[in-house]
Amino acid sequence: MIVFNVPPCTGRELDYIREAVASHKISGDGAFTKKCSAWLEQRFGAHRVLLTTSGSTALDMASLLCRLQPGDEVILPSFTFSSTANAFAIYGAKLVFVDIRPDTMNIDETKLEAAITDRTRVIVAMHYAGVACEMDTIMDVARRHGLLVVEDAAQAVMSTYKGRPLGTIGDIGCYSFHETKNYSMGEGGALVLNRPELVERAEILREKGTNRSKFFRGQVDKYTWVDIGDSFLPSELNAAYLWAQLEMADEINENRLASWRAYNEAFQELAAAGRVALPTVPADCVHNAHMYYLKCRDLEERTALIAFLKERGILAVFHYVPLHSAPAGLRLGRFAGEDVYTTRESDRLVRLPLYYGLDEADRNTVIAAVRAFYGM
Ligand SMILES: *Cc1c(COP(=O)(O)O)cnc(C)c1O
Repeated sequence: MIVFNVPPCTGRELDYIREAVASHKISGDGAFTKKCSAWLEQRFGAHRVLLTTSGSTALDMASLLCRLQPGDEVILPSFTFSSTANAFAIYGAKLVFVDIRPDTMNIDETKLEAAITDRTRVIVAMHYAGVACEMDTIMDVARRHGLLVVEDAAQAVMSTYKGRPLGTIGDIGCYSFHETKNYSMGEGGALVLNRPELVERAEILREKGTNRSKFFRGQVDKYTWVDIGDSFLPSELNAAYLWAQLEMADEINENRLASWRAYNEAFQELAAAGRVALPTVPADCVHNAHMYYLKCRDLEERTALIAFLKERGILAVFHYVPLHSAPAGLRLGRFAGEDVYTTRESDRLVRLPLYYGLDEADRNTVIAAVRAFYGM
């Protein structure tokens, strides 16, 4: 059986977790959390990074930092994970879905302006498969209309756009360290704050509405409840697991890229024959091999391919049921403009097994099975 995903594990995880246990500090913001956030800040040149309990709660915090009022509108792609939408809908925002580009599957930056109304407050840029959205245009549109930009960079840790790390370009970035992501802590994530004026409120939101972070830095002599908040900080046990991954971030990245390139090389012939479409990585984007996908002719062919692979012990999966057509999306949002590509392209897409340490022989089995399906 060739599974779709194996959570990353580099070998030092249990040592670090043991260290955290021995230090008698297993709640949040201990030594491992500090190491991880400092690493992310330095590596990506981010102003401030706060670890969170998930990518979803990083998005929740981003949404709270946007100070939305009921009826405010948030522009996002429909082709994304439910968390991208939940984070804003949960605080009363109206969701405005915009079509994607067929090449990168990212939000179509040329369709943003037509979706903006006088209630629009935020644009969410979700970097699908770790390949960047067209950020220069998105930032330009946002600045001209006075909107905030939140990057859902859950899949994009270690990717760049014109040399700039994803997550650090918008006002706020969100990472995920779920077990299905490139770097993991089981459940976890991070909030990337790219504007200094957001940091104080973010720290308060994350610490149950208290100014405890300031207290620990000796900036106030007692801590108290100063604003709304929640518990968004992960346990040291999770951060210890993550540290073992960040330490080897380049190795993990290289390993994933090697698998991605091997797939991409192997499917050139199928693509040239017009049988499948391969992922597009624009010239300005360096990606992190979060995912390898193919696009079949249509839904029917994709269903047959997934079944064919399953019969051969290979687990391939699709992505996503567009949010605007899901029960919650119908209630909480509307599609601005025409759905030219969102439904059509998502129906065609199939993701192949790709994870840190994917065995070359397994990879070749997947490649041979896909070729066999197409009789090539
Ligand atoms: C994984 C993911 C999330 C949610 O991250 P969790 O850590 O699982 O909460 C949000 N958005 C996108 C695009 C994702 O891929």
